[in-house]
Amino acid sequence: MTRQIVRLTAGKVLRSDDLVAGEKETAAGILRANPTFGNPHVVRCDWCRETRTLFRDENDGPFKLTPHGWRCEPCNSRASSQEIKF
Ligand SMILES: [Zn+2]
Repeated sequence: MTRQIVRLTAGKVLRSDDLVAGEKETAAGILRANPTFGNPHVVRCDWCRETRTLFRDENDGPFKLTPHGWRCEPCNSRASSQEIKF
């Protein structure tokens, strides 16, 4: 799944992990080919420390999408999110 490739690369970029040669370019190419995806966001709850890398139309883990970003449902708290650009 192409989104999963972008997601994994975004996580590495955020953590400043070593990237395989061309990995970032591959992710950027996927996003260029699929403009509807938008950039992935790293979503994090400051209370329970859960983190997910999500596209703008995805709900996962404790996070629920709202018109203004994501909420952590169990904590009933607004999650911080950071857009990852390649
Ligand atoms: Zn939480």
